[in-house]
Amino acid sequence: MKPVALVTGGSRGIGFAISRMLGENGYDLAINGVREASQVEDILQGLRETGANVVYCRGDVGTREGRDAILNALQESYDRVHLLVNNAGVAPKERLNPLQATEESFERLMRINMQGPYFLTQAIARWMVDNKKADSSFQASIINIGSISATVVSTNRGEYCMSKAGFAMHSKLWAVHLAEYGIPVYEVRPGVIRTDMTSKVKEKYDRLIAEGLTVQKRWGLPEDIARAVLSLSSNDFPYSTGEVFMVDGGLTTQRL
Ligand code: NDP
Repeated sequence: MKPVALVTGGSRGIGFAISRMLGENGYDLAINGVREASQVEDILQGLRETGANVVYCRGDVGTREGRDAILNALQESYDRVHLLVNNAGVAPKERLNPLQATEESFERLMRINMQGPYFLTQAIARWMVDNKKADSSFQASIINIGSISATVVSTNRGEYCMSKAGFAMHSKLWAVHLAEYGIPVYEVRPGVIRTDMTSKVKEKYDRLIAEGLTVQKRWGLPEDIARAVLSLSSNDFPYSTGEVFMVDGGLTTQRL
């Protein structure tokens, strides 16, 4: 029987690359997103071509009803889940500095980027722990897709930075709590990655990268993140729970 991975935001961008790489490497998939199932049918079909069984678990991770819907769809198709990838996340609709910021945008980002994955993880971790108690050979892990914004300030999207800083603590909390059950938790922390999320600021980042923003002078690709996730999910780092794995082309390497 193949291991099962739930990837939130798995039908686009970084999450899609993760899903495809996991599918190509022997996982069955549960793909979460907010779009209607009819809008992602071709994407899911593409993932099935990897040989994976693929189910769509539609739901907003930022609401309790959404998380219940995700869990129901998941449990209808699979009797266990071995890997949770908390990848879904959003940027502010409008970039505003802290003097202009709105509570509406702050609450939206905290809900989707921090509160949502925390309580989705709670539900999945309870299930993983039950499975582990019933069968000590059961292998499970959790991988969180954070952001360099957890430590790098962007004054025009402070609520995003704060949500990712909180999300970094979420990874550490779960790593500590789940250690006694042998369930490792890691954070993969991307830099600037070419996806729909960054398409609106493409010219800005093209220029910054050319000027030396990153040590490696190119955009990060979703596949760069997917490789890190595959490696972590393959238990290549068995003594590293709670660690942050940077995939940022050296953006956060301090230079003089
Ligand atoms: P995209 O905007 O390309 O894709 C976001 C995905 O998240 C989509 O699949 C979307 O679903 C899903 N999603 C959005 N809101 C919700 C929600 N409320 N509930 C469930 N799913 C939701 O983003 P990226 O691929 O660029 O980013 C993925 C993650 O990586 C995010 O957490 C982001 O913060 C982080 N990141 C990205 C960086 C970058 O440079 N791109 C850099 C650092 C971190 P649907 O497809 O249905 O619309």
